[in-house]
Amino acid sequence: MSSAYRDRLIEYRKACEKQLKPSRFEHSIGVAYTAMALAMKWGADVEKAGTAGYLHDWAKGIKIDEQIRICRKELPDLPESIYISPAVLHAPLGAHLLRKEFGIKDEEILSAVRYHTTGRPDMSLLEMILFVADYIEPGREQIAELPEMRKLAFEDLTAAATRIMALSLAFLERSGRPIDEMTQKAYDYYKNIRKDT
Ligand code: FE
Ligand code: FE
Repeated sequence: MSSAYRDRLIEYRKACEKQLKPSRFEHSIGVAYTAMALAMKWGADVEKAGTAGYLHDWAKGIKIDEQIRICRKELPDLPESIYISPAVLHAPLGAHLLRKEFGIKDEEILSAVRYHTTGRPDMSLLEMILFVADYIEPGREQIAELPEMRKLAFEDLTAAATRIMALSLAFLERSGRPIDEMTQKAYDYYKNIRKDT
């Protein structure tokens, strides 16, 4: 890791500490390190994984009404259906703000942040790493499936991502929350290429 890059990671970490509430900041550190470990295991760019990990929930530091307002104004191409599940908005808004506020132009990083909540069909390695790291990071609330997911992430990343999508959809259904279109599309895509999950 070049020292310029290390300086940037320090800058991102400090910025996050200011932007996010303490528990979310702690989550971001957990996601950054988990994403970097997964990048080491699966041969992705470790530095990009760290950047995406630290900054993925950046837009969560903004109140939801304000998130909606900025998205309406600055991201007119977002599908109308996304506003049915406003909790998803922080992902595309985050990618937008990383470009605008941090000058991050790397499309791999931006896309990983954009899809970290929903996943999408045919994800890149970095997208999948961030998606999985967000779910399995050490501070994540203990759910029954978590130990198995953590192990699986280092054995078969796609299988882990597919299981996480299934669990998220089941959770949304159980709790009566609306299911974002992209989440369903992503799961359908991976379920079809992996009949075993
Ligand atoms: Fe998030
Ligand atoms: Fe997160």
